Amino acid sequence: MTKSPSKHVEKLEIEFNNLFLSTQMIIKEALKKLGYGKEVFELLKEPIRMITVRIPIRMDSGGIRVFTGYRSQHNDAVGPTKGGVRFHPEVNEEEVKALSIWMSLKCGITDLPYGGGKGGIVCDPRNMSLAELERLSRGYVRAISQVVGPTKDIPAPDVYTNSQIMAWMMDEYSRLREFDSPGFITGKPIVLGGSQGRETATARGVTICIEQALKKKGMSLKGAKIIVQGFGNAGSFLSKFMHEAGAKVIGISDAYGALYDPEGLDINYLLDRRDSFGTVTNLFDNVITNQQLLEKECDILVPAAISNQITLENVHRIQASIIVEAANGPTTLEATKILDEKGVLLVPDILASAGGVTVSYFEWVQNNQGYYWSEEEVEEKLRKVMVNSFENIYQTAQTHKVDMRLSAYMIGIKKSAEASQFRGWI
Ligand code: GLU
Repeated sequence: MTKSPSKHVEKLEIEFNNLFLSTQMIIKEALKKLGYGKEVFELLKEPIRMITVRIPIRMDSGGIRVFTGYRSQHNDAVGPTKGGVRFHPEVNEEEVKALSIWMSLKCGITDLPYGGGKGGIVCDPRNMSLAELERLSRGYVRAISQVVGPTKDIPAPDVYTNSQIMAWMMDEYSRLREFDSPGFITGKPIVLGGSQGRETATARGVTICIEQALKKKGMSLKGAKIIVQGFGNAGSFLSKFMHEAGAKVIGISDAYGALYDPEGLDINYLLDRRDSFGTVTNLFDNVITNQQLLEKECDILVPAAISNQITLENVHRIQASIIVEAANGPTTLEATKILDEKGVLLVPDILASAGGVTVSYFEWVQNNQGYYWSEEEVEEKLRKVMVNSFENIYQTAQTHKVDMRLSAYMIGIKKSAEASQFRGWI
């Protein structure tokens, strides 16, 4: 039976649903648990720098359109800031700020020598030509070039941006600086200094988290029933890896609907037919909604699409015993508490999706050294980082009797707090 939440709780949840406010709330709690004073929260609750830029672009039609872009740098006490750039119609200042804080947390959890950064452009790449996207990518780099660079702030792919966009951005930056600067950006094509294993890194990281979570639950991956919401970079590669490992992928979805088959889906066919934005359900008639998919019976649920998917409204109907958050913010804070009480093992987004930035770090190290590693080397190093990070968060949750999300925030924010103190900032 679904419990109907009281008005008060509903109101609270609306506040929690605001990514920025909820991020600040958990950071406050995490710092308090770690014993830090108020001034540390005052510094870390907002990015140290946030710039908004206007980018005029000549469209194919001949007219000019002016786009809005952002770059947020949360804290650079640990090292240069690092994080992706998303191209999406719903990009906004608050979201970019929250996501830059999350990058600090991800880098803290995985112990990378970075603080967090994030960027975005308000646009819909699905309705733009390649030539327009190239002009926009280059225009963005010209607009933010003063505050970014291989030792300042290093961008990367994110929602609806890919290795081609990274290549244009790297080329623009190198032209501006008049020297080749592969370390300016990560997620590049291999031929331009990209790393082996970067494209699949987020999905590999999620896979490792699933394996660790199954171990804790005494379950096996072979035959485990898994639902993956979202068929973009993370969701599609993850479905492939799960299928190859012998798990039964019984549900997948895209922005338009979901496919479900308790006997297991034909993943190779779906991978073959998806378009570059991850759309595939348009080819089928028997489509259910994303919300229906989340509530189906399964062992492992991986929300790999958008935020606020598991809320007070549907949390009581979720049947999975393991939830691994490959997307940013798919579960609200209130829903997290309920899942924790029910004994569901929830691997939080800032841990589960940290494989991408980890291999981005490897890419940057390789660029700085001019010496490149094999795919096996990258994967082995990624595995070590993810297993250690998972274990650290799991143990801290047990020791402090907190849920996995708060534990991840405690570990994630600690480095920025410590480094800011050592530098004498607070
Ligand atoms: N956009 C990815 C993330 O949010 C990757 C960031 C990076 O590689 O720097 O984690």
